[in-house]
Amino acid sequence: MSYDVLQYAEDYTVRTDEVEIVLGEPMRYHTNFRIGGSAELFVSPYSEDALAIGLEMCRKREIPYTVIGRGSNLLVSDRGIRGVVFDLSTLTGYRFDGNTVFALAGTTLAALAGKAAERGLSGLEFAAGIPGSLGGAVFMNAGAYGGEMKDIVESARVMDEAGRIRTLSAEELELSYRHSKLEETGEILLSAVLRLKSGDRAEIERTMQELAEKRRDKQPLNYPSAGSTFKRPAGHFAGKLIEEAGLKGFSVGGAQVSEKHAGFVINKGGATAADVMALCREVQARVKENSGVDLELEVRLVGEW
Ligand SMILES: Cc1cc2nc3c(=O)[nH]c(=O)nc-3n(C[C@H](O)[C@H](O)[C@H](O)COP(=O)(O)OP(=O)(O)OC[C@H]3O[C@@H](n4cnc5c(N)ncnc54)[C@H](O)[C@@H]3O)c2cc1C
Repeated sequence: MSYDVLQYAEDYTVRTDEVEIVLGEPMRYHTNFRIGGSAELFVSPYSEDALAIGLEMCRKREIPYTVIGRGSNLLVSDRGIRGVVFDLSTLTGYRFDGNTVFALAGTTLAALAGKAAERGLSGLEFAAGIPGSLGGAVFMNAGAYGGEMKDIVESARVMDEAGRIRTLSAEELELSYRHSKLEETGEILLSAVLRLKSGDRAEIERTMQELAEKRRDKQPLNYPSAGSTFKRPAGHFAGKLIEEAGLKGFSVGGAQVSEKHAGFVINKGGATAADVMALCREVQARVKENSGVDLELEVRLVGEW
């Protein structure tokens, strides 16, 4: 298999058994925010080998690349993304073995949490409502309602830009609040092993339902967003600080600070990445002025800014 298949591209899409490549794919189709210009080359590998070959192509031709999972924590610029976007949401699958589960990077947290519950395995309840992939969740050390990936990750297989694969222990991943070592090394998560605990299926499912209700009550789930826009500053809640600065409902273009939960910036319709960024900068400035606290973006900025 080789990306030389590109020379046969007729309608800007090439599909083989191992990879799908689309030229000029609009990123709004691949982000929860429904925002973003086009990726020059949008590559969905169906195997680790296809990913390794794609990385080799990038290295040899000095093409920049970006990795995405389910796009639920991304703000892609209106100018799009230069080079290759590797879409890892295509690498899905899992295998339970006793209290552990091995899963591929693109598997959704929702699927893993649901399957774990069916088996009476506890530990993933917190993750059921996080709309991301395992890869994105480990990269971000995603967490909610007192749980985080750090509590359950046992190890992860990762690939570097030369296609070399190694296994990292939980300690080596250095998971901390919305951060992992992968942010520094640039390695791509291929799969991970999660350690769960045996529990009571009915109780696990009840907890998941309660957390889902809390989300529906508190979060603007009927609008596109990237979840919490800002990280939680030590000793504070971002949403509360934004509300106290009088910014609930504040909007720039199609982007708005949610009236339901001020910690979420939502796309009310037709928002551009520039709208969201202008809104975020204004929120940061006014919160700083009002409370002296610096808000840092949790949402990851991707593309040409
Ligand atoms: C409605 C809503 C609710 C949310 N609630 C929560 C919440 O409760 N808690 C929480 O923590 N987050 C929450 N989020 C944010 C988001 O879902 C998480 O950060 C999630 O883990 C991102 O996963 P993803 O697959 O979508 O990653 P993406 O958004 O695609 O990518 C996020 C980052 O991870 C990197 N990445 C993705 N896959 C890989 C990989 N395989 N290898 C290496 N790097 C990779 C990307 O390069 C990028 O930097 C919410 C988002 C929404 C829209």
